[in-house]
Amino acid sequence: MIKIADMNHSGLRYEGPIYRPPSEANSLLVQATVGCPHNRCTFCMVYKKGPKFRVRPVNEIKEDLLWAHRNLSDSVQTVFFPSGNTIVMKTDDLVEIFRYTQKLFPDIKRITIYGSSQYIVKKGLKDMKKIAQAGLSRIHVGLESGDDIVLKRVKKGSTKATQIKAGTIVKKAGIELSEYVILGLGGKERSKQHVKGTIDALNEIDPDFIRLRTFLPKINTPILDVIKTGNFVILSPHEILKETYDLIDGLHVQSTVMSDHYTNYIQIQGQLPMNKKRMLDDITLAMERDDSSFRRMYIGTA
Ligand code: SF4
Repeated sequence: MIKIADMNHSGLRYEGPIYRPPSEANSLLVQATVGCPHNRCTFCMVYKKGPKFRVRPVNEIKEDLLWAHRNLSDSVQTVFFPSGNTIVMKTDDLVEIFRYTQKLFPDIKRITIYGSSQYIVKKGLKDMKKIAQAGLSRIHVGLESGDDIVLKRVKKGSTKATQIKAGTIVKKAGIELSEYVILGLGGKERSKQHVKGTIDALNEIDPDFIRLRTFLPKINTPILDVIKTGNFVILSPHEILKETYDLIDGLHVQSTVMSDHYTNYIQIQGQLPMNKKRMLDDITLAMERDDSSFRRMYIGTA
């Protein structure tokens, strides 16, 4: 039995950069883990300078939840538990914090975390079902690409097969699945394979949400060093739009497509399959614009 002892802190505690999906902008953020246990993706700068990964003690997480219950209760409708891979927590601990969340906030609409495919596969269907029953309603997974060579080059830590397996487990467990795709992640050289592999993986998984991001190099990332050597050539806006068109065109899923991110050249959103034509028409229209009319290329700092 965990004792909620220390309620003297004056607010929610947080360590490291605050990073959450845009769809969790209005959520209560209660940190369950610090940093990312993988922390090797070459395109990701979020935790490259720390903090080192660790799981917060369950009693501390519960203290923060209790503080939120006492101080913010009326405004809490959804809860997101950062940081970069909360799925790695022990199943029993996840069950405990999700059950406690439901107890404190009985009208909660959604509990969400991030989770990479390799860790979801490691948990397996039985544990993922337990976690779902305890209250986890949505998980955000970085598919990034369905091409094994791209996944290996960016050190994602998972293969296309792992990504498909993880997605299938999440869906079977009854948890909403949000998959991220990074357009342009294969550079010019692997653009075609990147799109083809991603279509294949998404068609197998059929996630609830497909969230599009466009590759933008960030400071302090290993991929930026590769770009400087000339071994990775960044796609132009038109090339990105062509990848987007081919990707949407190749999907046979029931997913909602969203491009809710500043990195994208255009914002497209729709439900597949019914809005496919409209989304493709939007992309075709954008392709009539000159490259210079889109956001400039720069090195991201956040
Ligand atoms: S992209 Fe996700 S899994 Fe990869 S290093 Fe960043 S936080 Fe970790």
